[in-house]
Amino acid sequence: MTVYNFCAGPAMLPKEVMQKVQSELLDWQNTGCSVMEMSHRSPEFIEVYEQAVAGLKSLMKIPDDYSVLFMQGGGRGQFSSVPLNLKKNGKAHYVTTGLWSEDAVVEGNKFLTVEEQDCRVVVNGKTSILPLAEWNVSEESDFIHYCLNETVDGIEIFESANQLLVTRDVPRVIDMSSNILSRVIDVTDYDLIYAGAQKNIGPSGMAIVIINNALLNRSSESVPTFLNYAITKAKDSMYNTPPTFAIYLSKLVFDWLQKNGGVEAIEQKNRDKAAILYQAIDNSELYENRVAEQNRSLMNVTFYLKDESLNQCFIDEAKANGIVAIEGHRSVGGMRASIYNAMPIEGVKALVEFMKTFELKHKT
Ligand code: PLP
Repeated sequence: MTVYNFCAGPAMLPKEVMQKVQSELLDWQNTGCSVMEMSHRSPEFIEVYEQAVAGLKSLMKIPDDYSVLFMQGGGRGQFSSVPLNLKKNGKAHYVTTGLWSEDAVVEGNKFLTVEEQDCRVVVNGKTSILPLAEWNVSEESDFIHYCLNETVDGIEIFESANQLLVTRDVPRVIDMSSNILSRVIDVTDYDLIYAGAQKNIGPSGMAIVIINNALLNRSSESVPTFLNYAITKAKDSMYNTPPTFAIYLSKLVFDWLQKNGGVEAIEQKNRDKAAILYQAIDNSELYENRVAEQNRSLMNVTFYLKDESLNQCFIDEAKANGIVAIEGHRSVGGMRASIYNAMPIEGVKALVEFMKTFELKHKT
């Protein structure tokens, strides 16, 4: 039986990449060692690191006045790094749209005064996000922070940051942990983009930061050194021993994406996958999605069984049919299908088939 893993993260990685990792795990490029056992200062590893940076730059069309940093501590590490490094006057605007942006607020409040704006609007049980033009960001803010894709809630923002009415002097910071590389964005619309790696990139524990170099001079010496953007940049992400295996795997994932047509091509596939699943939910009598159409995530499709007493049965039968990790986050319940870049369309079709069969079987 083919197993499809719908876990929100750590999530499935491309089969082809994992097969390559397996084939060279013990003897990488005829060195007789695993890449995990190589010095991060060796010419062989430096080459991998440079190719990883170049790969991401090419995929996302990152201009030369931005830097790519590999940092440790995953997405949450950035909840601290961002306010610590970007603090100027001590106030920042945080928009909340779901669980992850709320958690970023909790951490931000430890380092500065967070001006929080909850931008969720619920109409007829469906949540949407206020248009960016209605976000009232003060010109005095040290930065604005928001999450482009709420992994738990299945809510995604598709508008560009250029819709914000605040001056460009207020840096725009976004959390793209669960939708980086899933669709085309214009990097120059933002000043800092960060993402935990464990969804569309590679192993957990690492974060990728894409930062406008103009912001690097905000990192004061009081910022803990390993969280300091300016130092991370100056040391080529090697102030402390970097997560070498994660960087190596990221490079392989970037190569895989490039080979498969880049972000433009994967965006089309992601849109097709999401459309199949949302359509199946909307056309059913048993399932419902609670997000307004314009904010439905392409990566994390959340849905509820109208008869919640069937939840456990759904999860168990799904597993028996090769559909694993379909349960929603414990804070919101229901179900969630995370369909990141590595999920083939066959996986989504298998899920839809299972959902239909389950609905027929349990029709009252
Ligand atoms: N931000 C988003 C949008 C996430 O989905 C997650 C984790 O799933 C995080 C932040 C936290 O990442 P980490 O667990 O790597 O700290």
